[in-house]
Amino acid sequence: MRSGTGRWTAVVVAAVLVTGMLAGCGGKEQTETRPLVIVGVDSADWHLWRPMLDEGRLPHLAAFMDQAASGRMKTFYPLEKSPLLWASITTGTTPDVHGVAHFVKGADQKPVRGAAWGAPALWDILGAAGLSTSIVGMWTTYPARPIEGVMVSDYLPYGRSRNKPLENLVYPDSLTEQVVSLRVDPDTISNEQLTRFIDADKMELAESKYGGLLSDLREIWAADLGYLAVHRWLAQETDFDLTFIYLRGPDMVSHKFYAYMVPDKTTQYMQEDEIEIFREIVPRYYEWCDEVLGEILGWFPPDRQVMVVSDHGFHGPRPQGKGTIEHSEWGVCLVRSPLYEAGTEFDYLELLDLCPTILALIGLPPGADMPGSVLAEALTADGETFVRRLEGNRFPSYMPLRPTEGPGGEQDAGVDEELRKQLRSLGYID
Ligand SMILES: [Zn+2]
Repeated sequence: MRSGTGRWTAVVVAAVLVTGMLAGCGGKEQTETRPLVIVGVDSADWHLWRPMLDEGRLPHLAAFMDQAASGRMKTFYPLEKSPLLWASITTGTTPDVHGVAHFVKGADQKPVRGAAWGAPALWDILGAAGLSTSIVGMWTTYPARPIEGVMVSDYLPYGRSRNKPLENLVYPDSLTEQVVSLRVDPDTISNEQLTRFIDADKMELAESKYGGLLSDLREIWAADLGYLAVHRWLAQETDFDLTFIYLRGPDMVSHKFYAYMVPDKTTQYMQEDEIEIFREIVPRYYEWCDEVLGEILGWFPPDRQVMVVSDHGFHGPRPQGKGTIEHSEWGVCLVRSPLYEAGTEFDYLELLDLCPTILALIGLPPGADMPGSVLAEALTADGETFVRRLEGNRFPSYMPLRPTEGPGGEQDAGVDEELRKQLRSLGYID
């Protein structure tokens, strides 16, 4: 069991009950917590989605938008790295508070580990309120730490050549064997499977001339397929209060392949045949994400609250080079909930508004020390009453729930290098 959080569990549960009672004063408003599914799509951007929606290429998203309030998500500026952004989304705090600032640190580029988290994340807050979370593949979660629910580390795709899985890859450890059996080895993805991204008649040329890019694509997709398989299995086993699905692939394929889609905007030298082979990968990857969204929605009852969100948008190639500079300031946010009007559009919320909004959807008060606010646009009448009361009764601070020393995990130089290799190929580190 988690140490040191016991007395806080009582405090948070009491606060939630009080908030629930306050919210219930009007009679019919929400008095209980309500489960939520989050689908985090790294780097999703309306600039890419709009034309694809118009062309009918994202049918599940289109149908979902009829049931949701949709708008933009304004990320931090200057543009930042995904681990920092997701840690701000999931803790509702700024990077100087949560401390997850980099992929690697020090001259020897040691990957930043789970111990870096200096603020409680959604799963810590929910756990203290007696609610469960499944979180798979989130940045900076190795070693997986004890939570109420299941945490599968983002190290899952690495270290496949080891004869046994890394220690503390999964919490609880009893699920490790099953989880590891569900990860996808990139080498098992056939060329035929890749024809959903690359035209079948170009596959042979792609293989012979651009094998490196093909194996990058295999690696990126395999990681997402593995995370998704774990969630598919978990969703069959348990209904968590918060199911947090995170797809990292869209950002990675964007860093690798967006330039082929807009060859006139890049200074990078590309062969004509190379452009022909790879130019559709990014939109086709989003078509796959759309299928995934359809599948995920099918795992839950139709009235389950669902949020689809990105941590930043994607601008595409810039003269300054690769890495976070390719991100854009505007991501996406869609919310399906009785608190928000279905089929409506709102202007925008800011990245730090996401955590308070997520807590409100679940029925928990935001922390008084969280700088963001609950999304106040597109609310239903009941939603407005509920959010006003929640905002007026914030919990003083969830900071005492910050993770204490978790398991140490294992140091494996080979795994660290695998991770650095992928970050380098995306232009994130030197
Ligand atoms: Zn990125």
